Amino acid sequence: MLALRQSHQALSLSDITIWLRDLRQHCYIAQSHYAVSCVMEVKLADRYIYAGGVNVENSEHNRLGIHAEQNALVILQSVLGGNVTFSRVWIMAAPESIQAGSNDPLADNLPLSCGHCRQILLSFTDSESGVYGVSCNGAVSQAYDLNKMLPEAFSERDLAITKHKSCVTSPIEMFSHYENNYSDPASHATDVIFMYFSNLLAPHIINTQFITSPIQAVMLKLTNGFYIPGVLVQDIAFLTTDAIFAAIGHAITRFGASFVEVAEVHLYCDDANEIALSASELKLIRHFSQQNIPVYYYQPALGFVRESSLIDVAKQKWEEDFGSNSFFNEVAEFERNFLNDSTVEIASN
Ligand SMILES: [Zn+2]
Repeated sequence: MLALRQSHQALSLSDITIWLRDLRQHCYIAQSHYAVSCVMEVKLADRYIYAGGVNVENSEHNRLGIHAEQNALVILQSVLGGNVTFSRVWIMAAPESIQAGSNDPLADNLPLSCGHCRQILLSFTDSESGVYGVSCNGAVSQAYDLNKMLPEAFSERDLAITKHKSCVTSPIEMFSHYENNYSDPASHATDVIFMYFSNLLAPHIINTQFITSPIQAVMLKLTNGFYIPGVLVQDIAFLTTDAIFAAIGHAITRFGASFVEVAEVHLYCDDANEIALSASELKLIRHFSQQNIPVYYYQPALGFVRESSLIDVAKQKWEEDFGSNSFFNEVAEFERNFLNDSTVEIASN
C-alpha cells in the first residue's frame, strides 16, 4: 500500500475514497477495533503530494498512540521537510467490522477530527485548508474550516512566539530525493544517512526554547530493506509526535503492522554521547523487532558518532533512571522479553 503519492493533477474523490478504504486494513487497533484512515494533500507549485495515515494504538501508553491525521501529517513533514501546510484532508472512521455497502448507520457516518487532531492540524493550516469527512459508503461532507472547528484555540499568542520556519531545502527537491533513494529497498552507508539527516530532514520545532525531545530525526531500517524516516513534529499545544513514533507510524501505514520489523535504528541528536531513548521509545522499537538490533548515533557537524544496541541502550537507560539496584531487574526483563515473548507476529512476505 502506498503511504505517499504525487500527481500533477488533484486526485479524484473516487481515488481518495478507495485509498481511505484500503488504508483501513493497516490500522493498528488491537484495543479499540475502531479504524480511522486519513488522506492529506499538500499543493506545491507544480504538483500535489498526498500522504495516507492510519491510527496506531499503543497498549502500554494510550497517550502515545497516533491518530490517523497526526500520522499523515508527520509522514509529510518527514519527507517534505520545512513547514508543511496542507490544502485538504479527508477522514474515514468506523468500527473495523463496518465495510462499504453495509446497511449499518455507521457506514454512512461523516466523521470529523477529534479535538486532539484539530489542535495539531491547526499548526499546519492556512486560510484555504479544508477538512472533509468521508463515509465508508462513499459520501463526502462539506468543507470545514479548522478555525471554525476549534475557535479560540491555543496559539503562538499564548507562548508569545512567532511561527517557526524550519525549511532547509525545497519540498520538491526533498521529496524527489526521498523517492529516488529511500522509497525502495536499498543499502545505505552511515555517511549517506548522515547526509540525509543533516541536509534534508527538518524537524518541526515550535521554538528552540521549547524543544521536548533530544532526538531530532530517526531513520529506521526494516528487515524488508526499506528505510523509513521520521522527524520530531511539535505543534503549538505540545501534542508532540516524537521522531521514532513518526517513523513507526509511517512504516505501519505503508506495510501494515504485521509486516513491520525493525532491523536498524539510526538516531540524529544534538549530543550523541548523552542520549538515551525514553522507556516508551525503547518499548515501541522492541515491540517491532525480534532481536537485539544495532542503534547508530549521529550528531550535527560530526556525522556518525557511535554504535550501540537496543539492550545496551536499555541498560544505560535504567542505570541512569533507577540506579544500579533495580536496573538489573528491568534489563533482565527486557532481555527475557526478547528471548521469550513475541508480541508481534511478523508475517513472512
Ligand atoms: Zn484525532
